[in-house]
Amino acid sequence: MFARVEQDALRDLENPDLTDERRLALMFIAAVRHLHRAIAPAAFEARRRSAPEESDLSCASCDKALRGPSLYCCDQCRDVAKHIRYIRKIIHDERITVPDLQESIGARLLYLGSGGQARSPDPAAKAAPHPTETDLILGDMAFRVASPQPLRACDDWRTWELRQPTIKAARRAIIESRLGHAAD
Ligand SMILES: [Zn+2]
Repeated sequence: MFARVEQDALRDLENPDLTDERRLALMFIAAVRHLHRAIAPAAFEARRRSAPEESDLSCASCDKALRGPSLYCCDQCRDVAKHIRYIRKIIHDERITVPDLQESIGARLLYLGSGGQARSPDPAAKAAPHPTETDLILGDMAFRVASPQPLRACDDWRTWELRQPTIKAARRAIIESRLGHAAD
């Protein structure tokens, strides 16, 4: 799946004129490729979440408990899942090798890695010995992109749009049942 990306990425990463966005995208793709090869399918499988239709009210992307029938706990989780679906899709159809798309992927990763904040360069954060928030966010995304099967329903570009009405209906039913008990 990554053969062409590998050749392109190795060549392009040596380009001194590479933008920060494309550099980040190429490094992200390299991390995904490494995880995809290094991690056994069973280890990915162990991290797979049950279908959100059957679960209680929790964020489709991070499992945080929700108090309403929404799919995600916040805009950041919705955006992360959307970008994971997009990257999985263009890896699948090999458009991941298109430089313009890599550029836009990198811009999105910069934004998401900063927790959805406008990004300001922080030299102290770069030197930090512990994984930064950015490392954790992008690391989780790379793992979810690398998994042979989508780890979460919201990571699946083939089915997520179709499944949403069912999941939302199930969540509304949970809320209604709770309200019903409260009224007893
Ligand atoms: Zn969440």
